[in-house]
Amino acid sequence: AETWQNVPLAPPDSIFKLTAAYKTDTFPSKVNLGVGAYRDDNNKPWVLPVVKKAKAILSNDEGLDHEYLSITGLPEFTSAAAKLILGTDSAAIREQRVASAQTISGTGANHLGALFLSRFYTFNGPKQIFVSNPTWANHHAIFRNVGIEPVDYAYYDPKTIGLDFEGFLNALRSAPDSSPFLLHACAHNPTGVDPTPEQWEKIADLFLEKKHFAFFDCAYQGFASGDLDKDASAVRYFEQRGVPMLVCQSFAKNAGLYGERVGALHLVGVDKAAADRIRSQISVLQRSEISNPPAFGARIMALILNDANLFNQWKEDIKTMAHRIIDMREKLHALLTNELRTPGNWDHITRQIGMFSFTGLNAEQSKAMVEKAHSIPDE
Ligand code: PLP
Repeated sequence: AETWQNVPLAPPDSIFKLTAAYKTDTFPSKVNLGVGAYRDDNNKPWVLPVVKKAKAILSNDEGLDHEYLSITGLPEFTSAAAKLILGTDSAAIREQRVASAQTISGTGANHLGALFLSRFYTFNGPKQIFVSNPTWANHHAIFRNVGIEPVDYAYYDPKTIGLDFEGFLNALRSAPDSSPFLLHACAHNPTGVDPTPEQWEKIADLFLEKKHFAFFDCAYQGFASGDLDKDASAVRYFEQRGVPMLVCQSFAKNAGLYGERVGALHLVGVDKAAADRIRSQISVLQRSEISNPPAFGARIMALILNDANLFNQWKEDIKTMAHRIIDMREKLHALLTNELRTPGNWDHITRQIGMFSFTGLNAEQSKAMVEKAHSIPDE
C-alpha cells in the first residue's frame, strides 16, 4: 500500500485561490482585493525608504556576522518592540514584568502565544478562546493546532456594517470567568471595525470584573491612523488597567517587511519573578519549534527603533501608507455616492479603519461583480 494513501486533499486557502484567479485573468484593469499587502499608486509593493536606509547601514557593517541569535531573539529588537507597543512610560516595562520573545512575524507570535496558553493557562472549563465573529481566518487554525477551540463572540453587525457592541459585551458577561478573549489591537481584520476609546473602557471593565485574559493581536500598529501611539492605545489602556494580557506584534505591514518574518510576543506578568518564569518557558517552547528566530529583519527593525532619525523617518513612511489608505477610502466613497449615485449607504467605507473593508456586498453581489461587472468595455 502507498505510504500516504490516507492523506486527504486539503481545500486551497481561499485568499491564495483568489490570487491565482487574479493572475490568470487577462482583464487590463484588474485589481486584487484579497491580498493583505500595501500597494503604491502604481499598484506595486512599496519598499519603505527607511528600510532601504537600514539595509544600507547593515550592508556596510563589516563586523556583522551570521551567527545564531539567542532563542528569544535580538535583545535590542525585542526591548524596543515592547516599548513601541506598550509605550515608553509602561509600568510593566519599568517594573521588568514583560517577557518578550522574537517570533516568526505575527503568525509566529500568535502561535507561540497560543502554545503557551495551551501549556500553562488555567482554563476554567473547556480549553477554548473567544474570537471575534469574524476574525482573521488563520486564528482558528492556529488555536486548533495547539488544542484550543476557538469560540465566536459577537462582533460585526451586518445590519449597521459596524460593531455589535451589545453583543460583544454580552459575550464577555456570559463567558465563564477567566476566559481568554482574542482582541485585535487596531484595524480589525477583516472588518475594519474597531471599538471607540469609550467602548474599550467598558470592555476593559468587563475583563476586570470577569477576570478574563486579553490575547491582543497587533498586526497593524500605525496603519490604522498613521500614528503609532494612537493605534497602540487600546493595548496600553488595558495594561494601565491591569488586565492580564499578552500582545502579538508584527512588523510585516507597518514596515513593509512581509517576507522577513519579524515579530514579537510580549507577555505581561504580575512581577519580575513571574516574567522570568514565563520567559524561561517561552524559551523552552521556542527551542523545539525554531531554535532561534531569523536575524535580518530583526536587525533592520532594531536599527529603525533605536535610532532617533531612522525612527522619525519610519513614522513619515507609515503616514504615507496610512494616509494613502484613508485617501483611497474617501475617493471610493465619493465615487460611489456623488459620482455614480450607487443605491444604498456607503458611509462604512470611510468609517472603517485600516487596510481592510467590509463592503457590505453579499455573496451574490460579489459574484456578480467578478463575473458580470468585470469585462473589457466595448470599443
Ligand atoms: N494577525 C492578523 C489579524 C493579521 O491580519 C495578520 C496578517 O494578515 C497577522 C496576524 C500575521 O501576519 P504576519 O505573520 O505576516 O505578521
